[in-house]
Amino acid sequence: MPNNQIKLEISRCLSCPQAPCMMACPLHVSPRDFIAFAKRGNYAESVKAIYNKNPLGLICGHVCPDTFCMKACTRCKIDSAVKIPSIQAVLIRRYGQEISATKKIEANEKKVAVIGSGPAGIGAVWKLLELGFSVELFEGSDKLGGSLNLIPQERLPRQAVEHDYQRIFQSDNFTLHLSTMVRKPETLFNQGFCGVIVAVGTQEVNNLGIEGEEHIVSYVDYLSQPEKYAKAQKIAIIGGGKVAADCALTAHKQNAETIHMFIRRNISDMRMSETEKEELKSYGVEINPLTRVTKVEEQSQVYTCKLAKTKVIEGKCVDDSDIPSKEEQYDLVIKAIGGNKIAIQENPRILCAGDCKNGATTVVEAIASGAEAAENLKATLKF
Ligand SMILES: Cc1cc2nc3c(=O)[nH]c(=O)nc-3n(C[C@H](O)[C@H](O)[C@H](O)COP(=O)(O)OP(=O)(O)OC[C@H]3O[C@@H](n4cnc5c(N)ncnc54)[C@H](O)[C@@H]3O)c2cc1C
Ligand code: SF4
Ligand code: SF4
Repeated sequence: MPNNQIKLEISRCLSCPQAPCMMACPLHVSPRDFIAFAKRGNYAESVKAIYNKNPLGLICGHVCPDTFCMKACTRCKIDSAVKIPSIQAVLIRRYGQEISATKKIEANEKKVAVIGSGPAGIGAVWKLLELGFSVELFEGSDKLGGSLNLIPQERLPRQAVEHDYQRIFQSDNFTLHLSTMVRKPETLFNQGFCGVIVAVGTQEVNNLGIEGEEHIVSYVDYLSQPEKYAKAQKIAIIGGGKVAADCALTAHKQNAETIHMFIRRNISDMRMSETEKEELKSYGVEINPLTRVTKVEEQSQVYTCKLAKTKVIEGKCVDDSDIPSKEEQYDLVIKAIGGNKIAIQENPRILCAGDCKNGATTVVEAIASGAEAAENLKATLKF
């Protein structure tokens, strides 16, 4: 966002006494306060106010949806919400280099393990360090960040992820183990850990349970290696949320000629803002509401999708047998529906956090969940 526009956005904030924006933020970051510091030209304090509440403040500035602080913003009743995430991102990008990471409280000489380096794992690491624990982070892949790595660069530049992660990892009490899968959290107790926080994400993509499902590529495969599918010109995307939108954006970037999105419900039920829907249309994406892919057949790498119309009755989505089904051919069919939460046996010393506990959520909610697990672990361990 250009300088003059950010200044304008900052000036639109009404400094509301009740700060509804803060109440709506899962981490209770206070836009009212960090904007007030910025208004006075005290940018260092502004950035500190963000990072004191949110260790991944820059990342959230890029990806927080408009359903939290912005939705609650008082200005919605007057004209439109203050663009809080953009202000947050710009302030940190410009003035956030020098701000140190965690405020450490008295060390308690106890070691906690965190499994998974996505936002929930990092929320847990950040809070545990602040609470005085030594923390070891175990990440199964050779890359930090979990699902953040699937968000296209245009929406989340990788430098933003590096910037926020580096700040946390500066602590002396922190050790990182990459490429280390932990399949049985309880085995870590033999290594001197007094507690474990499991933040392993949803991982699995939901099954559609339709004939020919093996011909459908999952969003994880597509978004982690889009170049592998760069030749596909006619693309079908099953799903209508943020993940589906990122698949469409990626396909558009790769110059796909036709991008069809299929959603079983109405366009108004899609979990994205009107601006995001308009953006998709500007990429030439055709959104097909009340449509279900019921079968996929492959012949010579051409995929024929059978499409049935659906209707919503008392909140339930059912096939509409009055409308005949039709068929369309594609070069690639992508499944972009969220994964399930994972059933992990929790006990007072093994706590779960983030998407593995709550199902597919958002970055800011995952961080909050990780931080909450850390607080709960401390309460259980009675330090
Ligand atoms: C394409 C896409 C776009 C998105 N867009 C947005 C957006 O715009 N805004 C937003 O707020 N949210 C968005 N999200 C959602 C957000 O990314 C997730 O809610 C968040 O990353 C969940 O964090 P998590 O830490 O619970 O899990 P994850 O981020 O999935 O991290 C889990 C980590 O655990 C590791 N792991 C798994 N098993 C093991 C094991 N046994 N041992 C060691 N490590 C293990 C994995 O390798 C991974 O690194 C998007 C998600 C996707 C996929
Ligand atoms: S609700 Fe909106 S206008 Fe009010 S303090 Fe928060 S950001 Fe500013
Ligand atoms: S962290 Fe996200 S939800 Fe919270 S105030 Fe910042 S932009 Fe809004």
